[in-house]
Amino acid sequence: MPRQDQVLVEVDNLYKWFPVRRSFLETLLKGERLFVKAVDGISFSIKKREIYVLAGESGSGKTTTGKVLVGLEKPTRGRIVYDGADISSLSLKEWRRQGLRKKIQMIFQDPYESLNPRQRVLDIVAEPLIVNRVTRDKREIEERVLKILEEVKLTPATEFAYRYPHQLSGGQRQRVAIARAMVLDPEFVVADEPVSMLDASIRASILDLLMYFREHKNVTYLYITHDLATARYVGDRIAIMYLGKIVEKGSVEDVVTNPQHPYTQALVSSIPVPDPKYAREKKRIELKGEIPSPINPPKGCRLHPRCPFAMDICSREEPPEVEIKPGHTVSCWLYVKR
Ligand code: SF4
Repeated sequence: MPRQDQVLVEVDNLYKWFPVRRSFLETLLKGERLFVKAVDGISFSIKKREIYVLAGESGSGKTTTGKVLVGLEKPTRGRIVYDGADISSLSLKEWRRQGLRKKIQMIFQDPYESLNPRQRVLDIVAEPLIVNRVTRDKREIEERVLKILEEVKLTPATEFAYRYPHQLSGGQRQRVAIARAMVLDPEFVVADEPVSMLDASIRASILDLLMYFREHKNVTYLYITHDLATARYVGDRIAIMYLGKIVEKGSVEDVVTNPQHPYTQALVSSIPVPDPKYAREKKRIELKGEIPSPINPPKGCRLHPRCPFAMDICSREEPPEVEIKPGHTVSCWLYVKR
C-alpha cells in the first residue's frame, strides 16, 4: 500500500488560457489578442490515496484544471509532475505510450450526457479495455465488466450489463460512468461534480463508492465541486479557486470550519445550516455583484470589486500567499504583515 505522504500529482504555476475568437475586423481595430484566463498560475500537490478537493463557483477554472490533469487540454504554461515525471508537454502519443491513458481517468458531471444512449452497459464499460488494447479476449472483457459492475453495486451484473442508459436511473448511470473509469484500475481519477446532478438522497452512496475505490484499490482523486458540504464529506485537503486563482488551501476541516479568505467565508456562509440556532450565530459574508469576466479579470486581488474588506492596496497589487498555520495558506492582504 503506498504511503499517504508520497506526492502523486504536483501542479506548479499552471496556466490555461483560451484565445477569444474575434472577427478579422475586430482584431484589426482593437489590436491585441484576447484570452480567457481560465487557469492563471495555480500550484498544489496531491498525495497518494488522497481525496483533494478543488472548490469554487462555476467559472472559477476548476473543471479546466481537471481537464488539463487528465490530458484533455494542454497547459499554456507551468508544470505537471505525475509520479515524479514531468508530463506537462507530452504529446497524445506519448501519453498513450507511457500508459497514462490507463492510469488517469475522469468521471464527468452529467451521467445523462456522458453515456452513449445507443450502447449497452456492457459495451460502455468494455470500451476503455478495447481502446487501450488491454485484451481482445471477449470472454475476459465480459468477465472484467461483470466484476466491476458488481463492485459499483449494479447487481445482478448479468442483468445490468444488457441494459441501455435510458433504462437506468440517474444514480445507476453514474455508477456505470464510475465502472467505466475504474475498469482499467486507474491510479488517479478526476471526479468533476460527480453527484451535483443527482438526487440528494443518493449522493452519499455515490461518494461512498468513490471512497471504496480509495480504500480497496488505492485510487487518488481530484474531486471538483462547488458544494462544500460534499467536499467535507469526502475530502482530505482542499483548494478554493476564484477566477483562475487559488485563494485558500488547507485541510478540509480547517478551511471549511474556520475559513480565512473572504471568498471562502462567503462560500461557507452560503451552506444551508439545518440547526436554526447555529444559523443565527453564523456570520453571513455577502459579496457584491457577479463574478467578473476571466477575459479581463480585475487587477490586484481579483475579488476586490466584490469584497466587503477591500483596501487600497487590494486593487493595485496581487496578494502573496501567506501560511497562517502549517499547511493552511491564504492569498489576501488582510494576512500580510506590513
Ligand atoms: Fe478582500 Fe483585499 Fe483580501 Fe482581496 S486581498 S480578499 S480584496 S481584503
